[in-house]
Amino acid sequence: MTRDPSCIFCKIVAREIPAQLVDSGDGYVAFRDINPQAPSHILLVPVNHKSDVTQYDDAQELGEVFKAAARVAEKEGLKGGFRLVVNTGDDGGQTVHHLHIHILGGRSMNWPPG
Ligand code: AMP
Repeated sequence: MTRDPSCIFCKIVAREIPAQLVDSGDGYVAFRDINPQAPSHILLVPVNHKSDVTQYDDAQELGEVFKAAARVAEKEGLKGGFRLVVNTGDDGGQTVHHLHIHILGGRSMNWPPG
């Protein structure tokens, strides 16, 4: 397991700081966003620290993260649909530099995003 000692999501993964856990499985942890932007707003975080999507060489490893996000959305009961968001870098609006998938649902989403 790779880890960055200064990373807040690594600390949540290690259960060193509290979070509202929704699910965990092989290689990931899912918990509720502290500042929800939809009735359901879950963050799916891989256990291994990689800053963003550009740091993945292994397509299968990255694919497993998305499969896990889809499973969590299903368990959350988001039957009407949902949105997966992966903010990347400063222009992408990323504030926590440990790859995470936002799972947003429970309301109709707008397009374009802000
Ligand atoms: P991003 O801007 O895409 O990097 O998303 C980071 C997300 O992490 C934001 O939606 C924050 O509200 C959320 N967040 C930051 N700290 C915590 C925390 N301790 N527990 C849960 N969510 C957090």
